[in-house]
Amino acid sequence: MRKVYLDYNATTPIHPEVAEFARPFLHELFGNPSSMHWAGREVRPYIDQARDCIADMIHGNPEEIVFSSCGTEADNHAIKGVAFARRDRGNHIITTRVEHPGVLNTCAYLEKRGLDVTYLPVDRYGIVDPDDVKKAIRKETILISVMHANNETGTLMPIREIGSMAHEADILFHSDMVQALGKIPIDVNEMHVDLGAFSGHKVYAPKGVGILYMREGLDLDNLIHGGHQEAGRRAGTENLIGIAAFGKACEVMHREMAEEAPRIERLRKKLLEGIMTRIDDVQLNGHPEFRLPNTLNLSFGFVESESLLIGLDLAGIAVSSGSACSSGSPEPSHVLLAMGIKPEVCQGALRMSLGRDTTGEDIDYVLEVLPEVVGRLRSMSPFYKGK
Ligand SMILES: *Cc1c(COP(=O)(O)O)cnc(C)c1O
Repeated sequence: MRKVYLDYNATTPIHPEVAEFARPFLHELFGNPSSMHWAGREVRPYIDQARDCIADMIHGNPEEIVFSSCGTEADNHAIKGVAFARRDRGNHIITTRVEHPGVLNTCAYLEKRGLDVTYLPVDRYGIVDPDDVKKAIRKETILISVMHANNETGTLMPIREIGSMAHEADILFHSDMVQALGKIPIDVNEMHVDLGAFSGHKVYAPKGVGILYMREGLDLDNLIHGGHQEAGRRAGTENLIGIAAFGKACEVMHREMAEEAPRIERLRKKLLEGIMTRIDDVQLNGHPEFRLPNTLNLSFGFVESESLLIGLDLAGIAVSSGSACSSGSPEPSHVLLAMGIKPEVCQGALRMSLGRDTTGEDIDYVLEVLPEVVGRLRSMSPFYKGK
């Protein structure tokens, strides 16, 4: 059976060049980077090299890169780190209703600990209005957290405006930039980002490695306490193979992005147009233009996305219904609900996210299979009348 993977926003395969680069860390390069002897000295430069590659990619300084275990940890470190360190300056955080659970559930936890969190609404495209951010600022506000690109819809947030507004008000700005990395250019200075979260497995590196970009001079509370790794900012022996691979992946993405992003965008547009001409009652979720090149989120009327997902999986096509974290639970996506989409329309939402291995033939195959699966499911629906 043909296998087509259209779930790159959930995770990506390891890039062959990255795998090749990381191989020695499964074999001869095994030292602890903190060790003074030859085994430690052999591996230490790889960590510095990875730090340089990542800093290059996001236009930060290498000293501002803190390695973590995942994107979720980086979100936790940023938000809890500021909340605890700046307790005497205020207890108010501003975020949006469409953030990843790594941000939303961290904020919910802090609310239980006495912090006050404002969850801003978004428009029908999933975009927060910078004016709403401005109006929500109080003298107790210590942090604004707004994601760069939404993982479910691909919609981009106006983070440059929000970041500059945060800085004018002397408030720290955190952005979950996990989905933006490798897909669109990032400049933490131009975007006024103080704290940025990134994840390796979304950019063709292995799972289990993340980064917190932490602007120079910031004094946050630590999340993980222990040894002096990462200049005392994140304890625990470094995930050497993950870090080396993440660095290599950034180098490769940096090199490939200018060519890959437009190619992937063309395929996404071909997929969208193909679906719109072949299937009726389909709605695009998210902004038509202001979005990631690779992400498509569509609601199909009169079908349940879970059934659609299963039908496509039987034909070898991997997609996602809502976010990966909420699949398995039939609740409609919090992101789509926040965009004002009716719950029954949310229930028919499918996310297709493309990546570097996606080909034109893959899209042709999906365009052949999808109308058939949708048609079959609709023929069983008592509500669908057809056209
Ligand atoms: C995947 C993802 C995360 C979490 O990253 P992990 O490394 O899987 O913990 C956070 N935010 C967004 C937007 C994501 O897509």
